[in-house]
Amino acid sequence: MRTPIIAANWKLHKNRAEAKEFLNEFREKVKYISDVEIVLGPTFTTLDTVIEGTEGTEINVAAQNVYYEQEGAFTGEIAPNMLSELGCDYVIVGHSERRHIFGETDGDINKKVHAVFEDEMTPILCIGETEDERNEGKTQSVLKRQLESGLDGLDPSQVAEMIVAYEPVWAIGTGESASPEDAQEGCKFSRDLVSEVYDEETGEQVRLQYGGSIKPHNAEELMSLPDIDGGLVGGASLDPKSFSEIISITEELY
Ligand code: PEP
Repeated sequence: MRTPIIAANWKLHKNRAEAKEFLNEFREKVKYISDVEIVLGPTFTTLDTVIEGTEGTEINVAAQNVYYEQEGAFTGEIAPNMLSELGCDYVIVGHSERRHIFGETDGDINKKVHAVFEDEMTPILCIGETEDERNEGKTQSVLKRQLESGLDGLDPSQVAEMIVAYEPVWAIGTGESASPEDAQEGCKFSRDLVSEVYDEETGEQVRLQYGGSIKPHNAEELMSLPDIDGGLVGGASLDPKSFSEIISITEELY
């Protein structure tokens, strides 16, 4: 069985003091959670605070981005070895804000996925269509392109270990989540594609998250879907109460 995984993407929110405040409340609220993997994704400068503040717990930590080179003349970038040295477990790669605001290409994202594995961390590869692409009937071709290029050159064992987050861009930060049918369809399509490109076993093992306006009120209907193994949560992960509620609701389903 695939262990459900609920990850927070704090985006550009929470300085160190705010992260400490969050952790004081959040640790208490999730201390009896044992069947859901929890991941917190703070900004780069808050990573060490969150890593230290989750020591002795089962909570894992993700960076929100990484560069694919280990060192060099790349002003403003952070290397994979710097994140693994800090103690990061996961790295979010190819988030739609990285693709659409910062112009990351499928090629950049594939290099980042490889770089994350090289430093023994696990990528959370984000894929998803924009509203225009959806309206033009291109959802599946976009997911196919992003997933095939994101996974290019990986071994089946790496794919089986990683996380793919299906995040329809039109559902991110809008308060309008995808319908359960659309969320399930996007995740099933991604799983079937992994099975086709790799093999059935890899398709069965890869964990798929849905992301896009998950809140406590819609967590049950989204997290109970057969091909959804968890969620990537933005806005609702900033509040320890709503994020822990999403986690508890998910645990009850398993
Ligand atoms: C995200 O940032 O990945 C996300 C899903 O955000 P939100 O939950 O706010 O839609």
